[in-house]
Amino acid sequence: MQIISTKQELLSIVEACKAQHQTIGLVPTMGALHQGHASLVTRSVKENDVTFVSVFVNPTQFNNKEDLVKYPRNAAADADLLQQLGVNYMFAPQPEEMYSDEEMNTTFRFDFAGLDAVMEGKMRPGHFNGVVQVVSRLFYLVRPNRAYFGEKDFQQLCIIHHMVERSSLKGTFGDLQIVDCPIYRGADGLALSSRNARLSEEERETAVNISRVLFLSRAWAKKYSVSEVQQMVVDTINSVPGLEVEYYEIVDRTTLQPTDTFAHAVGCVTVYCGPVRLIDNIQY
Ligand code: AMP
Repeated sequence: MQIISTKQELLSIVEACKAQHQTIGLVPTMGALHQGHASLVTRSVKENDVTFVSVFVNPTQFNNKEDLVKYPRNAAADADLLQQLGVNYMFAPQPEEMYSDEEMNTTFRFDFAGLDAVMEGKMRPGHFNGVVQVVSRLFYLVRPNRAYFGEKDFQQLCIIHHMVERSSLKGTFGDLQIVDCPIYRGADGLALSSRNARLSEEERETAVNISRVLFLSRAWAKKYSVSEVQQMVVDTINSVPGLEVEYYEIVDRTTLQPTDTFAHAVGCVTVYCGPVRLIDNIQY
């Protein structure tokens, strides 16, 4: 596996792949890689001639400076894992390689058609502007045939689909296919996340209640209304000492707007487990 840190090097490698008519898979990540990331990477390696994995903690998608500083980083372990998984290229640039000073300090403009007005977008103003900024830049640089994203970040996945299929950027990325990958969970049900590394052993055990309640809510959905299930999820998670729900929204899977039916619905939750902000979701 080759590690690349400059755009110029990346562009010339992509050019060579294209000249040989190789299909390219891209997995964008922020590093501190775990088995959840590995599930996306393995799929890309299987489905494409060449796989690029970007490892870049994108500063423009953090609305909270402290969260950016505390975000776990482990480049050496990431490189080892990607090498084992059969990745061809790891792209790990510094922020100044990706952005000019101006780009770093101005909000990237994009028409989200309202998809950013709810949940993560509402709680983290500007977050998705940074996500679209970095992902679109990676798409321009790598020109992938397929790009892999996890359903763990459900709203992000929706916004990436919008960017490729419905926005003014439609068609910009050629025949790029966005591949949705299921949430990878630990044996105890907790959705794997780089942020889990910040949990103490006790918090890790407490955090398991998030997915436990989400799974339980599927059974509740057979008997109760959307608003009743919503309330039960919030109350049950909040009743666990050490957990505090920021939001739990049951929304339509495509529009992300609140819905009063479970058909085509997804329930998205954000929970503080001690100081660590965790997200998870469940499809009904
Ligand atoms: P991140 O490094 O957190 O930005 O994640 C990079 C990609 O991996 C995103 O598309 C995430 O949705 C995906 N991802 C992270 N954790 C998981 C997981 N537990 N299961 C599936 N995909 C995941």
